[in-house]
Amino acid sequence: MNVLILGNGQLGQMLGQASIQLGHECLLVNTRTNQVMPVGAHTAVSLSLEQAVAWADVVSWEHEQISDQHVALAQHKLLTDPAQIKPLTHRQHEKALCDELTLATSPWQAFQTASELEAILQQWQGKAVIKAAEGGYDGKGQWRWQPNDPIAPLLETAGQQPGIVEAMIPFSREVSIVGARHRDGSIHCYPLVENVHTQGILSYTLANLTAIPAHLQATAEAWFAKLTAHLGYVGTLAIEFFVVGEGDSATLLVNEVAPRVHNSGHWSMIGSNCSQFSLHMRSLTGALIPPLQNNPVLMLNVIGVVEIPATLWRDPSAQPFWYGKEARPGRKVGHVNVQVQDIEQAKGYINTYTKALHI
Ligand code: ATP
Ligand code: MG
Repeated sequence: MNVLILGNGQLGQMLGQASIQLGHECLLVNTRTNQVMPVGAHTAVSLSLEQAVAWADVVSWEHEQISDQHVALAQHKLLTDPAQIKPLTHRQHEKALCDELTLATSPWQAFQTASELEAILQQWQGKAVIKAAEGGYDGKGQWRWQPNDPIAPLLETAGQQPGIVEAMIPFSREVSIVGARHRDGSIHCYPLVENVHTQGILSYTLANLTAIPAHLQATAEAWFAKLTAHLGYVGTLAIEFFVVGEGDSATLLVNEVAPRVHNSGHWSMIGSNCSQFSLHMRSLTGALIPPLQNNPVLMLNVIGVVEIPATLWRDPSAQPFWYGKEARPGRKVGHVNVQVQDIEQAKGYINTYTKALHI
């Protein structure tokens, strides 16, 4: 098949690699310039966007910020209706969707103006996180607040665009589920993985390394099924959760939904018989999917630094993935998947490397 991906960042490239492995042809669209690119190159091919859409049998995306122009051009080749996932690009609508589907999420209130934000905070109990409704990622567009903090400075920043005020959740840990819904409505999910964030950015993922109560996996899969069926979604999707409490009494709160392949699924590139990228491409193209078999992996994000330590390049258990992006503080420029035996070994890598890998 001919596959066209909207977006040519690292997720687009990894989707491209997976589609090549499955025998497809793949082109990527730089969604800022509308240039059409081959996988692995930044030199455009001489096809217009319209011609590339005509060439494609199926169109998909690496990120959910899809412009009206791209929707209008590619709608008939997309397997998920972009109008359905639009609420997930706006935190007020995303939270409202969770409430509508009765997927538990942190208590929240919407504001449109600075004075509405002020009114909410004046009666808010406890610590809060304020999030811009649109455009936030990797902890950007977020502000923390607690009772007795001044409200006025926030009105000049957080209050300058619509957003939500959300209760700060004292979570015991953060987990995410990555899986895919296929054309026939069936579902394959990976086990819940544990994610550790630093300053709002994913620092590392522990996959198949920590004991996650079975009832949380069952809940996460049930919510995944309910949400993706509601969206009429086809492909890989991720849900990030807060875990509240421990053991048998632990419960999940939905934090965010990403209707695409996700950073917390990168471990699957070496830790599963079918990576999240292959799973997405197989879902789109109607290919067979095996039962998922998964191994312990530590995924370390590489953030802001210009290189990965030589010892990791030489480590036979480590597979570095370098995105070829200009390094800037707080920008994800690569990740390293490390095959580990157990959590102790994972902790050894975390202690040795996270400082060198994050700016
Ligand atoms: P992403 O890049 O995953 O889209 P993001 O910047 O859009 O992230 P969130 O996932 O909402 O935003 O927040 C980033 C991180 O900040 C969370 O993973 C969590 O560690 C922390 N955080 C966000 N909201 C809350 C909350 N209500 N309570 C506690 N911690 C929170
Ligand atoms: Mg998040």
